[in-house]
Amino acid sequence: MIKSGKVFKASDLSKNGEVFHKLNPPARLSVFGEPVAHSASPSMQNAALRENGHAFQYVRILVSSKDLPQSLLRLPDAGFIGTNLTVPHKQAALPLMDRVSKEAKLMGAINTVAVQEGKLSGYNTDGPGFAAAVHDEFGIRLGDMRVMILGGAGGAGRAICVQCATAGCPVILVANRTAGKADVLASELRKALGANVSAVTMKHEDLMKTVPTVDLVVNATTLGMRETDPSPLPDDLLHCDQYVYDTVYSGGLSNLRRQADSAGAKNANGFSMLLHQGALAYEIWFGKPAPLETMRTGLKLASED
Ligand code: NAP
Repeated sequence: MIKSGKVFKASDLSKNGEVFHKLNPPARLSVFGEPVAHSASPSMQNAALRENGHAFQYVRILVSSKDLPQSLLRLPDAGFIGTNLTVPHKQAALPLMDRVSKEAKLMGAINTVAVQEGKLSGYNTDGPGFAAAVHDEFGIRLGDMRVMILGGAGGAGRAICVQCATAGCPVILVANRTAGKADVLASELRKALGANVSAVTMKHEDLMKTVPTVDLVVNATTLGMRETDPSPLPDDLLHCDQYVYDTVYSGGLSNLRRQADSAGAKNANGFSMLLHQGALAYEIWFGKPAPLETMRTGLKLASED
């Protein structure tokens, strides 16, 4: 569970962000979201800023969908280096950028904004953060695995599917509760990237056939965010040669990870994806490697009860 922390208002970005200049140290980085109080990004990014001797801080700003366009436009005059975006802004911010990276365009979402020469550049570090997390947790290159993404047509799921396609995964199976969305995404990625992507349904009889054929099962559904949530998979489908990455990072052991444990399958939660997407955002803002272990410690401190 992430502890909640101080939250600023969107209106604090007005008057050239004087509220943020008066802080000690001043704020020049942020995360926009609604809700945003539970974001762990400040602990991780502030640990990195301190480690590298930057005399400013990273703060949470509660920004509604209505306030997003103006809040983004105010960043340059408020002296901000950039911001992260969380729910519900990742897709909505795309058309509000001056420039969007090719990957973020394909992912259909932005989680990192950099102010560059007064203009807004949008990036998506969720996908590359996922690839780095898989390597960190399992010591395996994403591109070498046959992957199934449950909830693959959601926001995080889509970023992961695009990452799998660009990493060269030999097989990518997109499973989504609303099956039509998986069909559309699979066809888009086949066309755009020539990847071997197929849509599969989340019906039990289909999962029984498809799950055992992949090396890595990813949960990118929202199932698991509450302790009472069922697993997105039926019991007894996983086997001991598989890996399971659950992007959920709130709460204890999810039911999907329990199933993985009983099958003897290596598994991990979304903590490492959160860490690596943050480290990659830091690298975009500062153009140098992030102090990963310091950020890991900062994130752990934020997640302790
Ligand atoms: P989202 O855009 O709302 O997508 C939600 C996905 O979950 C959709 O595919 C949706 O299917 C599916 N879903 C929802 N309820 C379901 C149910 N009862 N059964 C099966 N599928 C269901 O959400 P998001 O922002 O992508 O977040 C998804 C997950 O990723 C969350 O658990 C979040 O914590 C995690 N995440 C982790 C990180 C990290 O750094 N670790 C970063 C981002 C997100 P439909 O299309 O049918 O609605």
